[in-house]
Formats: sequence, C-alpha cells, structure tokens
Amino acid sequence: MTRAIFLDRDGTLIQDVHYLKDPADIKIIKGVSEALRKIKNAGYLMFMHTNQSGIARGYYDWEDVHACNQKMLELYKLNTDFWDGICIAPESPDGEELGYRKPSEKYELEMVQKYNLTPSLCWMIGDKWIDAETGLRSNMNAALVRTGKTIPTETEILASAQKVPICEDLSSFCRSHLF
Ligand SMILES: [Mg+2]
Repeated sequence: MTRAIFLDRDGTLIQDVHYLKDPADIKIIKGVSEALRKIKNAGYLMFMHTNQSGIARGYYDWEDVHACNQKMLELYKLNTDFWDGICIAPESPDGEELGYRKPSEKYELEMVQKYNLTPSLCWMIGDKWIDAETGLRSNMNAALVRTGKTIPTETEILASAQKVPICEDLSSFCRSHLF
C-alpha cells in the first residue's frame, strides 16, 4: 500500500509572502526542513500542490514560481529531486474553470491513479480550509497548520466537525500524526 503526503507551499512550507515572485523574498519556517526529511524517511511519497493565481493575474510567470520552488529546496538543503510531484495551479479564483486550483482535488486524484495510492493512508496539509477540503474531497486525511494566516474561528469549527487536526506547524504534525 502506497502512502503520500500532499503539501501546500505558502504558509505551510514557507512563510506566506503576498504574491511571492522573487526567490530572494522567501522566508523559511523553522523546523520544516527536518519535518520534510522525516516524512520522506517514513516512506511517504511527497507532493506539493500550490495555488498560484499570480500567474493568471499576470503578476509573475511560471519561471518565477519554478525559481522560488528551487530556492526553497536550496534553503532547506533538500535535493532537486526531493518531490515526487509538484502541481502549480495558475488559475485565478474568478476564472471560468477551477482546473487544478484547490479546493479542486483533480491533482490528488490523478496521483492516486498514477501511483496507486491508498487515500486513507494519505494526508493533505495546508494552512487554509481549501487545502483541507482538497484532502477531504480526495478521501484523504487532512490537517491544518498555524504557520500561515491566522485560522478564522469558522475554519476551526469546520475542522473540528470534520476531524481535521490543527497543528502549530509541520514539525508538530509529524510528532502527533506521523506513524
Ligand atoms: Mg497556503
């Protein structure tokens, strides 16, 4: 049985910088590098799923996002082949079609198919409810971290009702939920 972890980028792996374009503006989050290694060593396939509407809005382009993703790996001292897959969703929320933009579970379902994942053993982790929703829609477990924007009370209520744990950060998720 194959298990995987899907991770949001902004607010989860690195600090949420408004429409991050320049790799020099990346701000790391303490403990993320160790947490990522721990998850990978535990035998999970690693995927990153990030909404980047700045592409559709024309604020930056694909190359900027690739450069930031690359820089993030460097800052965390991870190999360039660290990820088993990356999905960059370029759509704007007011666009016609959702495509890969979270809460669309299109990417997760494709990876379940491609890698024969067992969804009940997989996790989707992010800092916003749309991340949790993406996980739940794909029949995976979902968790939220508090390293992004403040989680609103409505989200805390939703999370509690849907058994989505809220962790301080990725390290804390590893301590409490990684088996
Ligand atoms: Mg985020």
